[in-house]
Amino acid sequence: IQTKVFQSEKMETVSQLAASISHEIRNPLTSVKGFLQLLQKSELKDKQKKYLEISLTELDRAEEVIRDYLSYAKPDSTGPMMVLNVKEEIDRIINILKPLSNQNSIHIETEVNTHYIKGNPQHFRQCLVNIGKNAIESMETHSKGTLSISTAREESFVYISIKDTGIGMTKNQIARLGEPYYSTKGAKGTGLGTMLVYRYIQKMGGSIKVNSKKGQGTEFIIRLPSAEAINSIHK
Ligand code: ADP
Ligand code: MG
Repeated sequence: IQTKVFQSEKMETVSQLAASISHEIRNPLTSVKGFLQLLQKSELKDKQKKYLEISLTELDRAEEVIRDYLSYAKPDSTGPMMVLNVKEEIDRIINILKPLSNQNSIHIETEVNTHYIKGNPQHFRQCLVNIGKNAIESMETHSKGTLSISTAREESFVYISIKDTGIGMTKNQIARLGEPYYSTKGAKGTGLGTMLVYRYIQKMGGSIKVNSKKGQGTEFIIRLPSAEAINSIHK
């Protein structure tokens, strides 16, 4: 019990710190980005153009990290809960992931049907993006990986499976999923993506199962209460 209390206190301090740092850093980043974009419009040598491009890409990367931290700072606010069409949400996320999967010659397979769940759309999309990005990143070193996304409904639950043919995880790695800052990606990782996924899915009344084998691939299965079932209970 004691370690649990300690952990939650530690998390709170980290959250507050993250929130203030994110705010303080976001403003200067935004103005630097604005000026660089202005510079891009002037006459430039090829080399200068290239340097500007790199600077802007790096700024985007910094913004991405801050976004992760900011949502980390307030993952407990659920925000607006609404009925979501799982098929529509997955289609939207596939469009976001496509450039990344094309870059790595990853094939995306889907078997997705219309199901309804209840949740904050922003949070749910972030969950799908985070899991999907990890899946694609796990296949970066493979030639021709496959990302398979499928859905099913069984009784009062909707199941979403996101499966990759990537590097896979050991038992120990699986056990550490969801731990803040746990990442095997060095400077490229924040170790916050999966933690957010676990928190958001829990908030939506769902749970997550992970099947993974080192060298073979990983499957994340999200289980969420079906909104149709919720409605029929209230009727
Ligand atoms: P990050 O992606 O920034 O490292 P995450 O919280 O998203 O942080 O993931 C934590 C770690 O979990 C990753 O560094 C990786 O080791 C492992 N992981 C998550 N998803 C997968 C996957 N699909 N295949 C292999 N490893 C994964
Ligand atoms: Mg990640």
